[in-house]
Amino acid sequence: MRVISFAQRRPVRIPVGIGRKRMRVVVTGGSGFVGSHLVDKLMERGDEVIVIDNFFTGRKENVAHHLDNPRFELIRHDVVNPILLEVDMIYHLACPASPTNVIGTLNMLGLAKRVGARFLLTSTSEVYGDPLEHPQKETYWGHVNPIGVRSCYDEGKRTAETLTMDYHRGAGIEVRIARIFNTYGPRMCLDDGRVVSNFVSQAIRKQPMTVYGDGKQTRSFQYVSDLVDGLMALMEGEHIGPFNLGNPGEFTMLELAQVVKETIDSSATIEFGENTADDPQKRKPDISKAKQLLNWEPKVPLREGLPKMASDFRNRILIEDEGKGN
Ligand code: NAD
Ligand code: UDP
Ligand code: UDP
Repeated sequence: MRVISFAQRRPVRIPVGIGRKRMRVVVTGGSGFVGSHLVDKLMERGDEVIVIDNFFTGRKENVAHHLDNPRFELIRHDVVNPILLEVDMIYHLACPASPTNVIGTLNMLGLAKRVGARFLLTSTSEVYGDPLEHPQKETYWGHVNPIGVRSCYDEGKRTAETLTMDYHRGAGIEVRIARIFNTYGPRMCLDDGRVVSNFVSQAIRKQPMTVYGDGKQTRSFQYVSDLVDGLMALMEGEHIGPFNLGNPGEFTMLELAQVVKETIDSSATIEFGENTADDPQKRKPDISKAKQLLNWEPKVPLREGLPKMASDFRNRILIEDEGKGN
């Protein structure tokens, strides 16, 4: 890594309110679940948006409604390869759960350094591992098994945070770090194995909801629009973070199944299956820091968010079934 001096730094200025300068913003992973909702919001307020995505898990349909807009550009590109662009801000969301996450982050930091853009990393609550502190504050250093089945993702993001801070300290880049807790909503992958997408598609398909282990492990589920508001507040604000962005409402997997039953299909059933090794037993964000410094907190409770997600899932499952001739 070549590090430039602070004298070379070109700080981003973000005038707010009326007459705000139009920003040119890159969203890596912008055709994915969270990225596409962020893109909608940035487009809505008049920014120029460039999406970089290799469509590894993202879908072109998620951003198809912007393709005719001259302020929007979609680049099929893998962030493990360098790319030259002129931009003011980089929201770095692209992240396969593999070591290439680190290389992609390095390239986006290199880009931020070259053009003086502000860089936001979407890190994860997984940096806390199977936490020994509950709820988790940003000051907690985590409890991650470095050789476990989940560690590639966890350690990849921990390294991404390290690189981000090193580029900030060494090259004077303006950086922001969000630690995102479990997020759900429309456009989530139907079959990526996450608990909310599994339970909702299982309920819609009239299959039993698969509860792993005894179902007493907990998670805190955040609706995607709350996350997007948090990411933008963080990018535009003065604080580096890291900030926990999540909904502090904590549910066991059995309780989650019950809420799906109440809000989506009252005849839904559950079945138990084996859990994966190193599964965190509990997870709940302490969001006091984001509340105080970003003036942000989530607004959408699980019982309101799940039905909004379910209508999108119903449509997509219907289209999928029609494609299969069912
Ligand atoms: P997603 O899989 O829907 O989106 C990721 C996007 O990145 C996809 O569009 C994918 O095609 C793209 N991508 C992957 N590898 C790429 C590469 N090498 N080059 C270019 N594009 C690439 O996932 P998401 O849920 O929207 O997550 C977005 C970010 O938020 C990720 O960094 C993820 O780690 C983080 N995060 C999400 C959650 C959550 O609950 N959704 C929780 C914690 C952290
Ligand atoms: N990089 C990039 N786009 C840019 C500038 C850099 O993709 O506009 C990549 C670059 O190819 C390198 C990485 O970002 O792989 C880190 O760049 P940096 O300049 O910090 O490191 P160096 O090239 O000095 O090792
Ligand atoms: N889980 C479950 N049934 C499923 C998928 C997941 O009970 O069909 C459990 C999983 O074991 C974990 C929790 O739900 O305890 C959250 O899993 P997810 O993969 O959604 O998120 P993460 O573990 O990454 O927080």
